[in-house]
Amino acid sequence: MESNQATVQTKQVSFRRVSWSFPTVNCPRCGRDAPRVWDATRVAIDIDLDQPIVLAVEVSVHVCATCGRMFRAQPPFLRPRAIYTRRVVQKAVEAVFCDGMAVRCVPDRLARDFWIKPDEKMVRLWCSAYAAAIDFAVDYQPWVVTNFSGMLCVDEVYQETSRCYCRRSRRAGW
Ligand SMILES: [Zn+2]
Repeated sequence: MESNQATVQTKQVSFRRVSWSFPTVNCPRCGRDAPRVWDATRVAIDIDLDQPIVLAVEVSVHVCATCGRMFRAQPPFLRPRAIYTRRVVQKAVEAVFCDGMAVRCVPDRLARDFWIKPDEKMVRLWCSAYAAAIDFAVDYQPWVVTNFSGMLCVDEVYQETSRCYCRRSRRAGW
């Protein structure tokens, strides 16, 4: 979509709310059932055929009564503390390992094709993880609960701090 203002480029994006919340989850430390205490929202970036997707992933937070550990339910499509989904990682890794592209060229390619631009250091980390045989092939579609479109400034898509995306999600009304 074209912008009327020459200095501000905007891009159509999809917003999806994804629920990964459960009444109980096995404690990662002791293996007992740990009940949900509340939900927290993680914000992540995914790609589609022609536009980026901003995900608000609601994950349940649990406290284990046996060992006292507090933890979040971990969605399989998003690594702990990650902002980009595994599908984004997969596209980057495929560019390097299937298409033979140099790692330094991958951010520009993702920016051109999908309007997202992770930095080169991050792409290198993803390629190392791939070389260590980590499985990226997990999708979140079954857990999408709402889906709508909006506009995002391109400059802000390129920011990579979660704070930026949290601010964006509040403005989008999440
Ligand atoms: Zn426990």
